[in-house]
Amino acid sequence: MSEKLLKWIRPEIRELSAYHVPDASGLVKLDAMENPYRLPEGLLPQWQQGLASVALNRYPDPAAAELQDKLIEVMHVPQGQSIVLGNGSDELIQMLALAVASDERCIMSFEPGFVMYAMIARFAGMQYVGVPLAEDFTLDMEITRAAIEQHQPAVIFIAYPNNPTGNLFDSTDIEEIIRIAPGLVVVDEAYHPFALSSFMPMLNDYDQLLVMRTVSKMGLAGLRLGLLCGEQELINEINKVRLPYNINVLTQYTARFVLENAGFLDGQAEMIRADRDHLLKQLSLLDGIEVFPSQANFILFRVTMTNATEVFTSLCNDGVLIKNLDKPGPLQNCLRVTVGTQGENQAFMQALERALRE
Ligand code: PMP
Repeated sequence: MSEKLLKWIRPEIRELSAYHVPDASGLVKLDAMENPYRLPEGLLPQWQQGLASVALNRYPDPAAAELQDKLIEVMHVPQGQSIVLGNGSDELIQMLALAVASDERCIMSFEPGFVMYAMIARFAGMQYVGVPLAEDFTLDMEITRAAIEQHQPAVIFIAYPNNPTGNLFDSTDIEEIIRIAPGLVVVDEAYHPFALSSFMPMLNDYDQLLVMRTVSKMGLAGLRLGLLCGEQELINEINKVRLPYNINVLTQYTARFVLENAGFLDGQAEMIRADRDHLLKQLSLLDGIEVFPSQANFILFRVTMTNATEVFTSLCNDGVLIKNLDKPGPLQNCLRVTVGTQGENQAFMQALERALRE
């Protein structure tokens, strides 16, 4: 491709690497925080029957009104608050960035943190400020206060629990951030089913607070559906940058169907929480591993006596795919494993013990 054409691509885009999704075929897939369980067999006939009546020839309901009502009910969105839906919460981050973007404004979040906040800030032509967490991955409030004062962020994203570290930040610290922020504060509760702690009830207390959720981690990652909740006037503005039919008919139908039969999701989340705690305990008993507390459906750990990238490769060769986060900085020698089925967790533990012996 000639430079004559490529020069039209913005330099900050050319500098980026595309979000990399590794090929997991044939591997035990514990790299992407998915729920390992599928829809219960008993629900399949009813789901398939309804699916047959979905009008594929028509555009979807642009507001996905019925789905919105169901989400408001099951996610306990406080009365008087509004929501906007995204094709995954990734798209909501993008809508927010588009709604506030200008080249002298910044998006702020915490490092190590979820990589899409920084990437989307760049896509939107904004600055990004990553505030370092303390060594134990808690919020360093002194640095945070100074960074907010200095950079006056348009939006601050706080993942609660945080990805990739798995911990819940102190809620009093988050409230202070909400109070001192000059702009919007998004509490990203992607991992809410595994943490059971939420800022949703506080939406009525703070106009500048938005709470973001997704159905991805609760077992519906394939649907691509997220929601952003907050004060009506603010949500109305963000809704203006949403593409009209962003939630397709199959997603609208299936999400409603699943949420109407949502009882099994709580059971799955409960099982994942118990398996996470078991896995945490097993990992903490291994020599050569430092494990970090988790309130999510994944666990961050550091390899202390050998090299994490070698451990990662050895696990892959043994048929287990996790996430390699090893690079110079706070995540040096760190790996992240998603909680799978009990069988998958066992396969991971066995492969890890073998890798550590090598
Ligand atoms: N927020 C956080 C903190 C995440 O870790 C992720 C996914 N890894 C997302 C948002 C995006 O989720 P989705 O687009 O699937 O809704």
